[in-house]
Amino acid sequence: MIALDRKRAYAIKRETVDLILEVSKESFPNEFAGILRCEKGVITEIMLLPGTISGSRSALLRLHMLPIDYTVAGTVHSHPGESDHPSRGDLQLFGKFGYVHIITKVPYGRNCWKAWDLDGNPYHLEVLGEESTSS
Ligand SMILES: [Zn+2]
Repeated sequence: MIALDRKRAYAIKRETVDLILEVSKESFPNEFAGILRCEKGVITEIMLLPGTISGSRSALLRLHMLPIDYTVAGTVHSHPGESDHPSRGDLQLFGKFGYVHIITKVPYGRNCWKAWDLDGNPYHLEVLGEESTSS
């Protein structure tokens, strides 16, 4: 069993979102998968799992091997398509691990991602450091 951060994530850093989208783009047309680390309620870091480029499924299953004190909020993975909704398989994994799950979609622009809870309901994450004027 993986210990989750007591303080649930309410926000994510803009630069973390940008990094996620960048890695999604680089991995395309393959999926990438990683885990979200949370510090004081803010998702600040992603950890890519080795060997994830060839497919997210096996990568996500390896999460069970993480150290138990890891401050893990949930998972992130990319979809090489235009849907950022969780698939049936995604939901099965969500239910086993963490409480917030981010999915990115093509073309991996700034708004091409969504966060979900383990039941597949939208999970609101505030983006910290959002610039209001730049495109
Ligand atoms: Zn998926």
